[in-house]
Amino acid sequence: MCDIIKMTATELAGKIKNKELSSVEVTKAFLDRIEKVDTKVKAYISVCKDYALKQAKISDDKIAKGEKIGALEGVPIAIKDNILIKDIKMTAASKILENYIAPYDATVITKLKHAGAVFVGKANLDEFAMGSSTENSAFFTTRNPWNIEHIPGGSSGGSACAVAAMTAPLALGTDTGGSIRQPASCCGIVGVKPTYGRVSRFGAVAFASSLDQIGPMSKTVEDSALLLNIIAGYDRKDSTSINIEVPNYLENIKDSIKGLKIGLPKEYFIDGLDKDVKNALDKAIEVYKSLGAEIIEISLPHTDYAVAVYYIICCSEASSNLARYDGVRYGFRANCNNLLDEYQKSRGQGFGAEVKRRIMLGTYALSAGYYDAFYGKAQKVRTLIKQDFENAFNKVDIILTPSAPTPAFKIGEKSSDPLQMYLSDIFTISCNLAAIAAISVPCGFSQKGIPIGMQLLTKHFDEKTMFKVAYAYEQATSWHKEFPKI
Ligand code: GLN
Repeated sequence: MCDIIKMTATELAGKIKNKELSSVEVTKAFLDRIEKVDTKVKAYISVCKDYALKQAKISDDKIAKGEKIGALEGVPIAIKDNILIKDIKMTAASKILENYIAPYDATVITKLKHAGAVFVGKANLDEFAMGSSTENSAFFTTRNPWNIEHIPGGSSGGSACAVAAMTAPLALGTDTGGSIRQPASCCGIVGVKPTYGRVSRFGAVAFASSLDQIGPMSKTVEDSALLLNIIAGYDRKDSTSINIEVPNYLENIKDSIKGLKIGLPKEYFIDGLDKDVKNALDKAIEVYKSLGAEIIEISLPHTDYAVAVYYIICCSEASSNLARYDGVRYGFRANCNNLLDEYQKSRGQGFGAEVKRRIMLGTYALSAGYYDAFYGKAQKVRTLIKQDFENAFNKVDIILTPSAPTPAFKIGEKSSDPLQMYLSDIFTISCNLAAIAAISVPCGFSQKGIPIGMQLLTKHFDEKTMFKVAYAYEQATSWHKEFPKI
């Protein structure tokens, strides 16, 4: 069993396919592991034990009968609890959806079902994916498997923790401003934010619709490429998904990166950067040099405005998206005698503090008289940020930055200061504003043994180059072979 939980999804899929392992055996190993460690790290809001074992049995039967199987046949995966799986509870880590049962499958779930994946559980998150530490979950805080006094990052903290704690070999997260990459960095795993439009968001709870993307989280780069192969593609149910061909992300992943140009934005490598993060990044840059890449300093001049622009846009869109939780159509309803009271009390009691803060900020930024000064202005600066990247990608193939400004901090350290918390995503936010893709790859540990991540950003729809560059580094180092002692 010990071996099973340390295997990659690619290895597991291979062994299940050639009958060295059964899916039931594999699924049970992960379910046992959840039972053993999840009380300590709390990655899951719900564990789908019976559902998973039933799916696993179906996979095993298919294999026994020699039927056609999927690329992830029989392999377990954890799903962030803001993505719908038909007939399974979906809470978005909010009281307002505490007892909500999903009436249909998200498109990514339909695709995963076709690929044969087994859903072991729904992973914890910051309420409605708003946060960077998973402390905003209405239910409980997830812990970092490398040190349970530290945050796992957020908002996909449960997904990152599940993979790092070896309770699932793969997970899905969502990323609006860094929520896949920052927790991946905090937990020492790989996380991918695909290009906007690459993966359908149909069936994912909308937070900020011009920024949200679903993406893979895994122990290795290859596993994330495999998972993106499955979930990517046009979907007519999501009008923002784009109808261009999905390449095979595993093809060419092992190609040499000799001569490739890697840009280091000077605005990201500033004096105040955490010492451990800087050391890890400096060493990673040396690894790339030794692999034959050319390192070039670049500039992304509007970087300073990214956090402000992001918080205006994401709060504005959230205030509109979250208007649907009115206590009438679905979710929690406060018992009242008149309709207005019912709306107000349902929302007042159903939403947590951070969600309310964002709804208020967003409603303000969109209100008559302020719209041009805040929302309109933010959209203009967003275009400048996008142009910064376009200019940079005329000079380089990939941009390398830290994933997060510090290694995972202690639980409680920033919860009373929202502005400090908002800065956790300073390096990941611009990617969403520019609608490009990025990956976070483990690149070392702090002196206290907390993981550190490196971010590689790529042009629109050029995830192939991103995977190749990430894979080359991963294979030249051994961070993906480290496991927490939990
Ligand atoms: N931490 C950022 C926020 O709170 C990003 C969240 C996300 O990507 N979902 O908005």
